[in-house]
Amino acid sequence: MTGDPEHVEAVIIGGGHAGLTMSYSLSQLGREHVILERGRVGERWRSERWDSFHFQFPNWTIELPGYKYVCEDPDAFAPGHEIVRFLHNYAALINAPMRCGVTVTSLEQGSRAGRYLIHTQVGAIEATNVVIATGPFQRPAIPPVSAQVPPDLFQVHSSKYRNSDQLPSGAVLVVGAGSSGGQIAEELIESGRQVYLSVGRHPRVPRRYRGRDYGWWSSAMGILDQTLDTLPSLEAKNWPLPLLTGVSGGHDLDLRRMAADGVTLLGHLQSVAGNTLIIAPDLKETLARADVWFTDFKKLVDDYVTKTGMDIPPKESQPVEGVAEPKEVSNLILELDLKTAGITSIVWATGFRNDFGWVKLPLFNDTGEPVHRRGVTGFPGIYFLGLRWLYKRKSFFLIMAGPAEDAAYIAEHIKTTGKPD
Ligand SMILES: Cc1cc2nc3c(=O)[nH]c(=O)nc-3n(C[C@H](O)[C@H](O)[C@H](O)COP(=O)(O)OP(=O)(O)OC[C@H]3O[C@@H](n4cnc5c(N)ncnc54)[C@H](O)[C@@H]3O)c2cc1C
Repeated sequence: MTGDPEHVEAVIIGGGHAGLTMSYSLSQLGREHVILERGRVGERWRSERWDSFHFQFPNWTIELPGYKYVCEDPDAFAPGHEIVRFLHNYAALINAPMRCGVTVTSLEQGSRAGRYLIHTQVGAIEATNVVIATGPFQRPAIPPVSAQVPPDLFQVHSSKYRNSDQLPSGAVLVVGAGSSGGQIAEELIESGRQVYLSVGRHPRVPRRYRGRDYGWWSSAMGILDQTLDTLPSLEAKNWPLPLLTGVSGGHDLDLRRMAADGVTLLGHLQSVAGNTLIIAPDLKETLARADVWFTDFKKLVDDYVTKTGMDIPPKESQPVEGVAEPKEVSNLILELDLKTAGITSIVWATGFRNDFGWVKLPLFNDTGEPVHRRGVTGFPGIYFLGLRWLYKRKSFFLIMAGPAEDAAYIAEHIKTTGKPD
């Protein structure tokens, strides 16, 4: 590319709900900006979720600034394509200045201080302000043990998994029992597959308790508004998200129930030796730790109800273990022969990593995490939005207009500190 780069006052990188929310806030203040999106609006909801995916919170929670999801049943759970439609409509409603199909390949210092150069495959843009809104879940994190897996096994990360038909016939090993792994294991067993589920740390929570959804309680009790500075440790930022599903009207993702339905539960996958999976002896402890989350959450609700005097159904006295302990808990599987088990594919539901290799500015700490305070970095005019715990627990969620407060804060920062050209 030749010639002077285009100049725009503010560039938002990423056209997910965080990028759109930022656009809304900048428009409210009349600030010129564009959104660069490598795919389409809400691309990750289009191409990085499986076919049967449903939003994990009830419809009434789906909201962005100035726009609520309109539907027949506020307590139902929207399928993934409805989330895409919601974001598409929102972009149109706020007249978001989208440039789709534009991948940012690098962000670097511009021609002079306070100017930044954004390279894309279709040319360069110089900007005074840049908001990086490329998502909290960027690149599949597949553990190194995957390299030890025999080459004839089919392997796929949850973000590329679509449905059971994508996998070769035979049994499936799902690694990771967070919401992705739990939901995928559930749909695979329902489609008639033999399923092995390697269980890691997961906060178990009730879908509904005392007549209200988990999302309702989280909102009412202020859990979604909890701020980063109140966390017991910085490590707590990376605690796994609660095990939830919105499929079939929403229900508990209870691993013991899934075991009763035919899923074989395993501990952590430690290594693979030839055709043998080596499994850690930690299944019992992992399930027990998840039960503590479950019990603690219900106690939190009970205390809240007592404190506020809410008039709702009484405590539900179902035991923590709703169904019997699976046989694998007392009779641990520590080695599993892939051939004997008939396992032909592995779904890695093992989460995501950051992918900021294209950012050529020293904005990161030793572990590669962006350094910022409420999205504001040490580089004047460079901001992050939509990260987990950017400021509050809800900062990265689509529910309750998650990033709206952060976007408004950044827009105000741009207004008061920026130098419009
Ligand atoms: C399996 C799964 C289920 C989830 N379920 C829920 C749920 O039920 N409810 C909920 O509230 N949240 C849910 N989340 C979380 C939610 O998906 C994310 O919080 C949300 O997508 C974040 O929005 P965002 O705009 O910050 O990022 P993203 O949606 O990731 O958007 C970032 C955008 O940036 C674009 N981009 C990235 N790099 C570049 C580049 N270099 N140049 C140009 N564009 C780029 C991407 O294409 C993408 O469109 C779920 C997440 C996962 C993984």
